[in-house]
Amino acid sequence: MNDPPKRVRRDPRAERQGRAVAAPAPVAAEAPTRVIAEPAYLILAVPDMLHGRLSPHDRDVLGAARALADEGGGAVAVLAWAAADFAGAGADRLALVAVTDCEARAATLAATIRHLAPRHVLLPDTLTGGGDLGRRVGARLGLRAAGDVRQAGLARVVRRAHGGAEDWAGAPPPILLLAPEAAAPHAGPRHEARPIELDPVAVTPRVRDDGPVAVDAVALPLGEADFIVAAGNGVTDWEAFHQVAAALGATVGGSRVVCDAGHLPRHRQVGASGTLVAPRCYLAFGIAGASQHLQGIARCEAVIAVNSDLHADMIKRADLAIVADAQSVMPALAARVRRGDA
Ligand SMILES: Cc1cc2nc3c(=O)[nH]c(=O)nc-3n(C[C@H](O)[C@H](O)[C@H](O)COP(=O)(O)OP(=O)(O)OC[C@H]3O[C@@H](n4cnc5c(N)ncnc54)[C@H](O)[C@@H]3O)c2cc1C
Repeated sequence: MNDPPKRVRRDPRAERQGRAVAAPAPVAAEAPTRVIAEPAYLILAVPDMLHGRLSPHDRDVLGAARALADEGGGAVAVLAWAAADFAGAGADRLALVAVTDCEARAATLAATIRHLAPRHVLLPDTLTGGGDLGRRVGARLGLRAAGDVRQAGLARVVRRAHGGAEDWAGAPPPILLLAPEAAAPHAGPRHEARPIELDPVAVTPRVRDDGPVAVDAVALPLGEADFIVAAGNGVTDWEAFHQVAAALGATVGGSRVVCDAGHLPRHRQVGASGTLVAPRCYLAFGIAGASQHLQGIARCEAVIAVNSDLHADMIKRADLAIVADAQSVMPALAARVRRGDA
């Protein structure tokens, strides 16, 4: 199988003027899958998989696990709560266990640690995900855990301490709870992701799990949002902006200029001096794409820009661009969503 060809952005202005447009990049042959048959040890990674997908933080954890495994001839085992492309993320072994409640996950992780005896267990240090699960299972099994880990190696870890006032370095304990961007995601060849069968774990629940509770997506904190609709100085029709965000069920954000002007509260500011966001989709209306704003959206999976200027930096950053007046796109999009054909 070949890599999909690299996408080339069209520049209609250049085409009209008869200027040369970049040719597609040559298609690279795919590297063979890497198989580690007899690893010296296992590193177990447990991604959060919020909304059933790998977040950028999850990918950092898998990248850190890959680096720890490669340091000494080890292999990466992943305990996952949902399916995803774990071979591409660098997993050699994969245990897929579709449990959702916290007690069942803790029991499953404890049983997996007993079964695989990994050298280290890596989780994202998130409040309601890996941070909670890792500490809970560490206490149950008597395994020490380090939180807010910024660098992870087989001989030494660095973790932030004293509310960020200093970093502590030392030998890595068995459980490592990683901060976002503690490592780069795996970018090498695909790995085997060979399935591991685990015996089912019986859990007598002490907590009743009523499943997910609906929340008002528009008011979600920006750092937790999966879909953000953001406004910049190019937005003048604020009613249409809030209506399109509500119709799409998206969380609201904005540039510093619109927060300075009082159109949105300060905690809605996206960017270097606001919130760094990592949604699956970021839809930007009338935002220029200043460097401070682009820093805030560096970890978005897909960016859609609506801007009247084809040459705006946000259009260059976007995966999909609409060169148009935001004031006409917002109500048209909201109407299509309400009709159910968008
Ligand atoms: C120390 C520092 C920290 C900063 N931190 C941040 C930060 O965290 N976040 C942040 O956002 N900024 C930050 N800034 C500000 C940043 O430099 C920019 O000034 C700001 O992001 C610009 O906001 P904007 O894109 O909304 O406005 P503008 O720069 O005014 O751009 C408006 C855009 O809207 C487009 N437009 C105009 N009319 C329409 C229309 N009708 N339809 C569609 N598009 C239209 C224009 O083509 C333009 O691209 C910071 C600056 C400094 C110095």
